[in-house]
Amino acid sequence: MYFCIRDDDTSFFTSPGELEQAYGEVTKHGPVSLAIIPFCRAGMSRGLPKDYRERWSVHPLADNRALVEYLRHGIAAGRYEAMLHGYHHDEPENRREFLEGSDLERKILDGKQYLEELLNTTIRVFVPPHNAIGKNGLKAVTAAGLQLGGVAGMRHGWPWLSPESVKTWWELRRRRRQGLPGVPYVLHLADHREIAGNPLTPRTTFKQSLRLFDEATGIGGVFCAATHYWEFNHPTQDPDARTVGEHLYKLVRRAVADPTVRWRSVGAVLAGTSAVTPHA
Ligand SMILES: [Zn+2]
Repeated sequence: MYFCIRDDDTSFFTSPGELEQAYGEVTKHGPVSLAIIPFCRAGMSRGLPKDYRERWSVHPLADNRALVEYLRHGIAAGRYEAMLHGYHHDEPENRREFLEGSDLERKILDGKQYLEELLNTTIRVFVPPHNAIGKNGLKAVTAAGLQLGGVAGMRHGWPWLSPESVKTWWELRRRRRQGLPGVPYVLHLADHREIAGNPLTPRTTFKQSLRLFDEATGIGGVFCAATHYWEFNHPTQDPDARTVGEHLYKLVRRAVADPTVRWRSVGAVLAGTSAVTPHA
């Protein structure tokens, strides 16, 4: 089974200390894939500092020199992977950038090239802001040769006429009817691959994660933990994990203790192997 961690919302507003506090220990065991916003617009997102919220000013990642240095070193050392997380991320009137926005092909190519040059790396994965993507967004992702962190689905961009789409849609429908909520394997579409994130938030519980983790282990599939570093200290109602951070650290201990688990970056899992299929 493959295990990976996807963390969203690293941007100009992130300090190296915040990432180091969340992931300093974790990355001693395996990589963390950071979904990074290249030109963060200070809108309504909860991860933004309060003083900046709804200013709508745009902040290139390069303006945070300390963070850029930290990321460069972390990526070069294999502790972090960089993924592209939208372009501005926030849009006025709560519009979702890669569902309702325009000029998406240019935004993805620009954003990808900007992060690659700034961080001295290769971007392989796109993670849509607010997990929202549509037909044009998905087209822009595949045109740039990227894979998707998240699941688009038929209503949000999978072409109805492609046999791969129909097969994948059918398989997921069959799973839901069996009462299986997770997607514990990489989805192979005609021109790209997708990986579902299992959200770790103040509202999800360790038991829920464990059930999905064990299901993935059982089929030799994949479990991707989806987190926000800025939410690690938030309390939960879960007696098994009092904070979001504790929830992740318990899962990490589980992954490290299991010799069948292979911990990789999200990009490496998606670049992947034929072992990650529904029936493996
Ligand atoms: Zn985000």
